[in-house]
Amino acid sequence: MKNIILTGDRPTGRLHVGHYVGSLKERVSLQNSGEYDEVYIMVADAQALTDNADNPEKVRQNVMQVALDYLSCGIDPTKSNIFIQSMIPELAELTVYYMNLVTVSRVQRNPTVKAEIKQKNFETSLPLGFFCYPVSQASDITAFKATTVPAGEDQMPMIEQCCEIVRKFNEVYGETLVEPKIVLPTNKSCLRLPGIDGKAKMSKSLGNCIYLSDTEEDTKKKVMSMFTDPTHLRREDPGHVEGNPVFTYLDAFCKDEYFAEYLPDYKNLDELKAHYQRGGLGDMVVKKFLNNVIQTELRPIRERRNDWEKRLPDVYEILKQGTAKARETAAQTLSEVKHAMRIDYFTDDNLLK
Ligand code: ATP
Ligand code: MG
Repeated sequence: MKNIILTGDRPTGRLHVGHYVGSLKERVSLQNSGEYDEVYIMVADAQALTDNADNPEKVRQNVMQVALDYLSCGIDPTKSNIFIQSMIPELAELTVYYMNLVTVSRVQRNPTVKAEIKQKNFETSLPLGFFCYPVSQASDITAFKATTVPAGEDQMPMIEQCCEIVRKFNEVYGETLVEPKIVLPTNKSCLRLPGIDGKAKMSKSLGNCIYLSDTEEDTKKKVMSMFTDPTHLRREDPGHVEGNPVFTYLDAFCKDEYFAEYLPDYKNLDELKAHYQRGGLGDMVVKKFLNNVIQTELRPIRERRNDWEKRLPDVYEILKQGTAKARETAAQTLSEVKHAMRIDYFTDDNLLK
């Protein structure tokens, strides 16, 4: 069996450092590992429209931005197919068939869907398309027979639901689809990076992000304004590192060598944390250090983005070619699905018999 990756992001905004540590970084290293036969990276515009139906211009503008973010992070178009979801109608067709295999109550129990309905205040105005997005995500994954989905922790319930659909489909119609596995970041702090406001998740929709494309000055402003430990009022007070996003970001980004370079009074993060917990270490010192760390990590990404921004026609071509290749694969799977479901009426004359 081939090793195949499918993953993606909603073009609801530019990508942020949560995406980077939660999924993008892993994708780049899997892409370069040589262990994967095919890599598909999807700009999920159809999914973005499920809760942005009245704002199509936002989705459209961000398709190119997300593609630029991918390329800046090191997604290599010679190794990975970057494609646009809505340009592959086969995905929507698969969703129609899969919807028959899922109950409403099962989607209602999906914890990520539940949390997002609450976060978006949908209550009585929940779009049906949004409610169904776990099913459409199962189409995206299975259309490419993906074995591996590098994603953040919030995607675990989606992959679980996808596997249930695969098992049900194969059981009813015969072995056709492949069950995927999620690959989560190994660093626990990257599973769900909090926002700069201390909210549980950095998210485009919550406006609490450091974007990969933010300028050096904007990034610095955001870091210096970050929520920290509200009980750590004076420098000498003992502070908390758990639930303190400044330390969570350091857990996610910091390497020991950054101490030698930017904060030589400490050898490593454990020493810095111990001092903060003891008291006597001000937030400003920690934030300044974090700013240096983040700037060092983001600088090469920003530089690559500057180059790609000058080559927009090339980015357009990359999207076009990636989409064409992805469509071929999805069409092949759809024809296998329809054959298994016995709805391939005109491929032979069996209907006459
Ligand atoms: P939206 O608010 O529009 O849903 P988002 O910021 O949640 O946007 P998505 O496009 O939904 O971003 O998520 C894309 C990928 O990035 C998923 O794999 C998701 O798990 C991961 N991801 C998103 N936010 C974070 C985060 N804060 N920490 C770790 N991973 C994240
Ligand atoms: Mg999301």
